[in-house]
Amino acid sequence: MGKGQLQACRRAHSESFVRESSVAGRASGEHHPNPEGATKVRILVVEDEAKVAKALREGLEAEHYEVRVARTGEEGFYLLNAETFDLVVLDLMLPGHDGLEILRTVRKRGLSTLVLILTAKDAVEDRVLGLDSGADDYLVKPFAFPELLARIRVLLRGGRSDQVLRFKLADLEMDLVTRKVERGGQLLQLTPREFDLLEYLLRHEGHIVSREMLARDVWKEAERATPLDNVIDVHIARLRRKLDGPFETKLLKTVRGVGFVLREEKP
Ligand code: CA
Repeated sequence: MGKGQLQACRRAHSESFVRESSVAGRASGEHHPNPEGATKVRILVVEDEAKVAKALREGLEAEHYEVRVARTGEEGFYLLNAETFDLVVLDLMLPGHDGLEILRTVRKRGLSTLVLILTAKDAVEDRVLGLDSGADDYLVKPFAFPELLARIRVLLRGGRSDQVLRFKLADLEMDLVTRKVERGGQLLQLTPREFDLLEYLLRHEGHIVSREMLARDVWKEAERATPLDNVIDVHIARLRRKLDGPFETKLLKTVRGVGFVLREEKP
């Protein structure tokens, strides 16, 4: 359907539940921030209507956004907790837990992801409630797709860049804008170096980071890789004490002879 009019028709009954098993080659969207830092803007679309969801996905992907689609409120809520998104297009008219419920819960938990809600034409009250509940903008169905794109661009421009600005791993959260790091809701006091170190490890979540990489990318002293090893180890030890010390689940692991990896070990 491309960039034409997106006729977000009223909710059709008994729409076949065609789950788009995300396009091949993109299926491994779990480790969103790729090591090169060339991160795409990630958008979560929460929409139960198959046609609308599909059109949104295709249209947004054509604009080079990385798109995940949730077809129920529960799934949307789950994805929001499990992954990092820059923006959510949230339909308010969902079966089960509706969009407003999700929005409120998300905000209550302190997630500051941008949210654009989709409301029905005559549901003025929904719009007001939505904005009161923490939505950043709204669009009335049916809407023109270019209008949606324009709104998204404006929202993303407002203080956000096209990079991931928040990381989440288990109960660890890092906000690159406020430079706050929390674990289990507790604020971690990190030095600037420890912060950079943790950010780097989070960008490589699940992948081994060598001392050479840290010397080159965090300390920016590639030539001195070997003499830096002790310095790096000291900082890692300090970071580990703050990050993992008081917590049962350890996230930062040493891979003997190779380097370090930040990972949530599933039991
Ligand atoms: Ca809907």
